[in-house]
Amino acid sequence: MRLQQHEQLFQLSFLPNAFPVNCYIVEEESELTLIDAALPYSHKAILQTAKQLQKPITRIVLTHAHEDHIGSLDSLKAALPNAKVFISERDAMLMNHDMSLLPGEPQTPIKGGVPKTLKTRPDVLLHDGDRIGSLTAVSAPGHTPGSMAFLDTRNSCLIAGDAFQTRAGLAVAGKINLLFPFPAFGTWDKQTALESARKLRSLSPSLLATGHGAMLPNPSKQMDKAIAEAKAKLER
Ligand SMILES: [Zn+2]
Repeated sequence: MRLQQHEQLFQLSFLPNAFPVNCYIVEEESELTLIDAALPYSHKAILQTAKQLQKPITRIVLTHAHEDHIGSLDSLKAALPNAKVFISERDAMLMNHDMSLLPGEPQTPIKGGVPKTLKTRPDVLLHDGDRIGSLTAVSAPGHTPGSMAFLDTRNSCLIAGDAFQTRAGLAVAGKINLLFPFPAFGTWDKQTALESARKLRSLSPSLLATGHGAMLPNPSKQMDKAIAEAKAKLER
């Protein structure tokens, strides 16, 4: 596991060189918020990092319900029974292995691995604009129907889940990057993902933190480029 820090944001990266899977710890005054739960064995490093920070993890917030973002959720919940679990109301359906589409959504199949045997149930169902400590929840569908990003109101760091990937060059969810195509393979609806990418760009984040790849400071120009590339690809 590789640990990197930017102000109150800690990135824990598993398999950083081969197949990077990230989760994040956001430090608050007296507690910690974990964003995503990475891989099945990741709880050990997550709990160890919290111990080093000498604050308790009181919230586990999920950007979406794909397996590589909730892998150690059951183990974490067992170790932290009082931590509250947050996910969008829409992706809570995927947590229950319900892949059905709602009326009004693009009727294209949901992709990527979702959990089959997850025991943990969410405590809080999130909607656009909800506050979680210093974070504001920003609905960013596309990669999954209920994907969410989280903006730290203290410093405008944006934890974007898989709405973007930073591995092998910044890309909007759904754009196949041949050097690391996996997030694109798991993306539900590219047009919706593009609209969400524009919405996230409009927040003018000071730093972009994604599920796969390094944290990117001052990302606006690169986000513009990635959005233009995704748009061109969709129009082709
Ligand atoms: Zn994903």
